[in-house]
Amino acid sequence: MRILVVGGGTGGTIVANNLARRLAPEIRARKAWITMLSASDRHMYQPGLLYVAFGQMMPDELYRDQQSLLESSIDFHVDPVETFELDKNQVKTKSGALHAYDVLVIATGSRVMPKKIPGLEEGAETFYTEAGAVKLFKALREFEGGKVCIVVGVPHKCPIAPVEVTFSLHDYFKTRGIRDKVHIKYNYPINRIHSIENVAKWAQPEFDRMGVEYETLFNVEAVDVENKVVKSLEGSEDRYDLLISIPEHHGMDVIESNNLGPDGWIPTDRHKLTMEGHDNVYVVGDTTNLPVSKTGSAAHFEAEVIAENIASIVKIGTPVKDYDGKVYCFIEAGHDRATYAMFNYENPPDLKAANKSMHWFKMSYNKMYWASVRGLL
Ligand SMILES: Cc1cc2nc3c(=O)[nH]c(=O)nc-3n(C[C@H](O)[C@H](O)[C@H](O)COP(=O)(O)OP(=O)(O)OC[C@H]3O[C@@H](n4cnc5c(N)ncnc54)[C@H](O)[C@@H]3O)c2cc1C
Repeated sequence: MRILVVGGGTGGTIVANNLARRLAPEIRARKAWITMLSASDRHMYQPGLLYVAFGQMMPDELYRDQQSLLESSIDFHVDPVETFELDKNQVKTKSGALHAYDVLVIATGSRVMPKKIPGLEEGAETFYTEAGAVKLFKALREFEGGKVCIVVGVPHKCPIAPVEVTFSLHDYFKTRGIRDKVHIKYNYPINRIHSIENVAKWAQPEFDRMGVEYETLFNVEAVDVENKVVKSLEGSEDRYDLLISIPEHHGMDVIESNNLGPDGWIPTDRHKLTMEGHDNVYVVGDTTNLPVSKTGSAAHFEAEVIAENIASIVKIGTPVKDYDGKVYCFIEAGHDRATYAMFNYENPPDLKAANKSMHWFKMSYNKMYWASVRGLL
């Protein structure tokens, strides 16, 4: 069986490594082959971007060489896919190569779309890219006081990031001794301060305690860069000195240009994780259209189900597992404290008070990630 994994980020790497171990006898017997095509020879630990934005990590700490993370039996190529020919079970790459498969795993992730809002790219800082995180840190270093506004587009990956960046701003200015000179204003698009109800209930008193102002039902319409004003579709206007944006995301351009799903989100069976209408195509991570948070942890849990099912199809002819929508998010809450949210399709998260040990667990996980994508955790 020829297994082709497209995308070498969190989801694709865990699927490929997990499969390489499960199918080691079949690979040795030349009955199974695993190929990975990716767009980069480097793998980025994206959650680290938040730490880069506050000067707590250097950008080069976020990267590992992708080949070094993969089991040696995986045939890895840096050659992005340009065309998916699902009816012919093959893809074409940028270099012109044709890769035929029996089973395809699509794990191409997602991207920010700041250009959708006039003025947002020019007017707002964002920590969702390496260059953006470094630029935000420089802007924060120069900031001596005034109003910092946070605005959020949906959908976006890491739904916890808006509250985490707000807590981090509070801490950062406090440490610099200028918190009393900074007005932090958090704007959120729906009618509570977070999409996950229990996160909203937990975060609101934290914001109150920290003196963070918040406004809900604030969907950004445009940014007036010259006058430093952000306007919402709902009609309100916010003047800012520093604007921080978490822009709306789409799936990757290659998914949109191949018409695999509106806005690059691929219609995916919520339990089997196959692409709707294509039983031999699996979808993992951000690029699914599933109603779960676009996080590395969701990608991880999905990847384990997909790998187990592809391996069991090879071995006994049938899949054995269903994905239950599991997500686990750390939430950095400031003052060296953190909590977590664990939930699935059926059960909402039950948030505990933030504490120091969860913060140190998260700091350790920042290192353990590399063992996790190798499939060792
Ligand atoms: C600031 C920030 C903070 C975050 N914090 C957290 C957190 O605390 N916890 C958490 O769980 N998640 C967090 N995330 C989200 C997490 O990083 C993503 O959800 C996760 O990486 C998604 O995995 P993925 O495999 O779907 O995509 P990615 O990891 O993005 O990988 C996509 C891969 O596809 C490749 N690719 C793209 N186009 C092509 C193509 N045409 N052909 C072949 N390959 C291609 C890319 O090179 C890349 O290797 C955070 C993200 C950000 C930006």
